[in-house]
Amino acid sequence: MNTAQFIPSAFNFSIEKATYTWQTPSNIALIKYWGKSDPQIPKNASISFTLQNCHTITSIDFVKKNTASEITFELFFEGIKKESFKPKIAQFFDRIKEYCPYIFEYNMVINSENSFPHSSGIASSASGLSAIAMCLLNLEKELNPSLSSAFINQKASLLARLGSGSASRSIEGPLVVWGNHPEIKGSSDLFGVQFPYKVHVVFENYQDAILLVDKGEKQVSSTVGHNLMHKHPYAEQRFAQANENLTKLSEILQNGDVDAFINIVESEALTLHAMMLTSNPYFILMKPNTLEIINKIWKFREETKSKICFTLDAGANVHVLYPENEKEKVNHFIQEILANYCQKKQYIFDTVGFGAKKVVNYRHKNH
Ligand code: ADP
Repeated sequence: MNTAQFIPSAFNFSIEKATYTWQTPSNIALIKYWGKSDPQIPKNASISFTLQNCHTITSIDFVKKNTASEITFELFFEGIKKESFKPKIAQFFDRIKEYCPYIFEYNMVINSENSFPHSSGIASSASGLSAIAMCLLNLEKELNPSLSSAFINQKASLLARLGSGSASRSIEGPLVVWGNHPEIKGSSDLFGVQFPYKVHVVFENYQDAILLVDKGEKQVSSTVGHNLMHKHPYAEQRFAQANENLTKLSEILQNGDVDAFINIVESEALTLHAMMLTSNPYFILMKPNTLEIINKIWKFREETKSKICFTLDAGANVHVLYPENEKEKVNHFIQEILANYCQKKQYIFDTVGFGAKKVVNYRHKNH
């Protein structure tokens, strides 16, 4: 795989001090990524909707230092020093140092906050790592103004991937494919690309209500879960199935067959969790209320002929997906019925979004 184009040569410009702030979204996979090889190469291609309201806002203050022998950074999350987040970010910097040698030259102070609970399966790692990647690319762009926005998006996605695989899908929107796939033009294992074909109008502004069944941290992290795919008895069939499902979903997204969409998306969610149930050691991330909600959604669909469906990430929370023209009816169903199965009746109404945004004059909490 050719990654040489992402390694910068010497810069003509020098910067002593700078601060950049970026807002990047979380995303929800429709075809799931579960299983990888080194360095963060997916075993199958995946596709996700980019979200809008579930996002991270991160600023990085870069200050040039005298010695450039090691990578130094501090991290504040919601205004407070967050040691527990540091190992993942230290590992991220270590993995990207070849692509961003300039990080050795600066002390970096990272200030970040999320609009939604972290570590509970709503992909805060995706928005968190992609936001850092965009701040780094912002610095790189100042050091080398000739970089194109297409290159910046591609490299930011490549960096983000090295921090957290699904973060590669959190730079652009509304639909992003990550992983080499014969029928998706331009797709790559190295970075995410926008779904390259015209999407049917029914999938524009698709709605995603995230039901917070359990806001607590999951007992088994995604990193551990991915590793369990190495000796998994069904792994190879699963990877082949995901790629076949992406071929079908690509057509569905173009022809607007929402019933076929529902069938694939729900099957993908349950298959992801089936991989967890059949790992060794086995584990369950769903909670009783996850199943209650799924059954209620199926009943509502049966009774009202709605096009509502669900998907799950690696966690207990449920993503409810529906077309924009059903917003009023389904939001009412969520508020009146499904909210009763959520922790403190909490849910987040979200919609498909368009990716990373630069933010100016932002003041972080307590900072
Ligand atoms: P999730 O389902 O929320 O992605 P994970 O356990 O996979 O849960 O990832 C959580 C990790 O992502 C945190 O421990 C932290 O390292 C990282 N993370 C979350 N939010 C941020 C953020 N805003 N900035 C940097 N890293 C973050």
